[in-house]
Amino acid sequence: MKIILIANRLPVKIERNESGFVIERSEGGLATGLGSLETKAEKYWVGWPGIHTDDEAEKREITEKLHELNFHPVFLSDEQIENYYEGYSNSTIWPLCHYFFSFIEYKAEYWEAYREVNTLFSREALPFIENDDIVWVQDYQLMLLPRMIREQKPVTSIGYFHHIPFPSYELFRVLPEREEVLEGLLGADLIGFHTHDYMRHFISAIYRVLGLNCNLDEITLKERIVHVDAFPMGINYEQYHNAPALPEVREKATLLKEKLGDKTVILSVDRLDYSKGILHRIDGFDQFLQNNPAYHEKVSLAMIVVPSRDNVEMYAELKNKIDQAIGEINGKYSKLGWNPIYYFYRSFSFEELIAMYDIADIALVTPLRDGMNLVAKEYLAAKGNHTGVLILSEMAGAAIELQDALIINPNDKNEIEQAIVQALTMPEAEKRERMTKMQKQISSHTVKRWANDFVQELQGIKGQNREILQKVVGKRQLTQIKSAYDEASSRLILLDYDGTLSPFVRMPEDAVPSEKLLELLRRITADQRNKVVINSGRDHQTLDKWFAGLPLDFAAEHGVFYKDDGRWHRNILEKIVWDEEILDIIRHAIEKTPRSHMEQKDAALVWHYRNVDVWLAELRAQQLVNALIGPCARLNLQIVPGNKIVEIKPPDFNKGSEVLRRLEKDPYDFVLAIGDDTTDEDMFRALPADGISIKVGNFSPAAKYRIPLQSSVIPFLIKLIQ
Ligand code: UDP
Repeated sequence: MKIILIANRLPVKIERNESGFVIERSEGGLATGLGSLETKAEKYWVGWPGIHTDDEAEKREITEKLHELNFHPVFLSDEQIENYYEGYSNSTIWPLCHYFFSFIEYKAEYWEAYREVNTLFSREALPFIENDDIVWVQDYQLMLLPRMIREQKPVTSIGYFHHIPFPSYELFRVLPEREEVLEGLLGADLIGFHTHDYMRHFISAIYRVLGLNCNLDEITLKERIVHVDAFPMGINYEQYHNAPALPEVREKATLLKEKLGDKTVILSVDRLDYSKGILHRIDGFDQFLQNNPAYHEKVSLAMIVVPSRDNVEMYAELKNKIDQAIGEINGKYSKLGWNPIYYFYRSFSFEELIAMYDIADIALVTPLRDGMNLVAKEYLAAKGNHTGVLILSEMAGAAIELQDALIINPNDKNEIEQAIVQALTMPEAEKRERMTKMQKQISSHTVKRWANDFVQELQGIKGQNREILQKVVGKRQLTQIKSAYDEASSRLILLDYDGTLSPFVRMPEDAVPSEKLLELLRRITADQRNKVVINSGRDHQTLDKWFAGLPLDFAAEHGVFYKDDGRWHRNILEKIVWDEEILDIIRHAIEKTPRSHMEQKDAALVWHYRNVDVWLAELRAQQLVNALIGPCARLNLQIVPGNKIVEIKPPDFNKGSEVLRRLEKDPYDFVLAIGDDTTDEDMFRALPADGISIKVGNFSPAAKYRIPLQSSVIPFLIKLIQ
């Protein structure tokens, strides 16, 4: 088994010198986390090497050197970088996922390049991916890749992690390529996000855009279940925690302290990006200075802004605005020996950054949106036993874990001002208490743990998805079932109707049996060894009408009625007179839920909601069940939630009780049950140990086999009896 890590960028620095190319590993957070995966498996990386060349000999040289490290480069042209990386990734997906709706650029060439480059990545990776490997795709530049790999490698375990926020469906829906992007991601077995909020948004997009079945954190596909989970990414805690003691850091910290005197230092560190809320922060600090003159000459804000994309107009503009805003504040308030804001527009070395964390009394981390924000965690880790206060935006993924920070809304200047004052006046004991709690969290949830948790969960799913795949009725399974069928002399065949023999249609009354089905039933019942029972929730009148003249047996209304040897029997003496309170509860549900309706059967009441919006239906079904629990318990009635229905019925009969009755009455050496609904699971569970249960549609642990599509059921039965 190998682990294949695929990210936009390989964790290397490549430089040209006179004798060729020099390759050096670079240790970003992600590379460290993935590098520290506790596994004996060999690790391979696939990614862009970060260097451009059109010279084939140079490409070969770089490739050979990278291969020694198990790194596989994907070379990109300038145009591909422009349209795939700067374009679709950073000008379409980035603003979309960070809620900057009006910044989204839609260009056909961006999307084309995105698809093309994702294909290049798949071509590079596919030749060495084997069935047993684990493939882990990283981030929003490669959202089409999981599917591209899945199409060629149906059983390989594939994971995807999204490092940025996933927006609400209402925003995500604006993306013209929303279907393709989601389908691309669903190639993975496990899709990870930093927080459960992003998870929730993603699942909502899946069922609204693709109409797929989602059950909490699982998305059911024909051949697999895709799992979605939250894995908040951490940092290399030890590294940051120990770094302040390094001699080089101590030297720099001492120098900084000397320069700043006894001023209280507030620190902010960001890449230049509109999502970081840099201008809002400056505004908030301005208001703080304006309203709190007592702190003048006592407090300074040190702002580190790391240059990024400033060749792009929007970023250059942002930089100008930042320069201007800082200039104005410093112009307005500066005194000899005191600058309100120290501004650094450059990248800091690790040691310099740690020295800044070390001397900073307060960290002001106020992104408007941020997938996680590692700076907040690094600051806490580097504080050691010193106290410091973290002011953190609620819009950063990190805020979920770091509840002991001073949490603010970055759009609210008043909150920024108040948090700064609170931090400046916070008693030492409180600072220490908050710091200790947060350090405990981040020291146990490190980047190493993040990577290991993800891979471990992915491996668990692999087993489950294999089992699901093995249950699907293919050639091998058909042969097994058919040989049992052929050998048998007395067979009981139990078939559900809606969703099994007939497709699940919009209007229940439209589900009349097709000619093809009737023909099949004629053939199957012509064999004297077969006893065929349609085991349905429908009322007996409808079943009688639809199948008139066929030598079939029935169980209707979930086992309350049954037709045996040409005669109908009932398990209850009379038609039930429904309690008014229960009827009123259902009527109320109908009023509140357009397109839902009630069906009154002799022995069951059914609330149908198959045409109702998914979210509303779930809400109303849950509310209905809650409202029914009391009266149904009092009247000894059972509430059965089924496929787009909630049914109320006497508790003694179900699809399983009918199976037991028949098995007691006559001996069979072949028993087959096929059904699609949760109510059919009663039937599966009632089968003898060697009985054959087949679930149509989603996976069910209660059934031995599975037919993913209803349209495959009749062809399966035809092959069985041939
Ligand atoms: N960082 C850096 N050089 C600097 C300033 C910051 O390498 O001069 C690092 C910082 O230590 C952190 C990362 O950049 O690990 C920023 O990560 P974060 O999650 O806060 O924001 P992102 O830039 O990924 O959106």
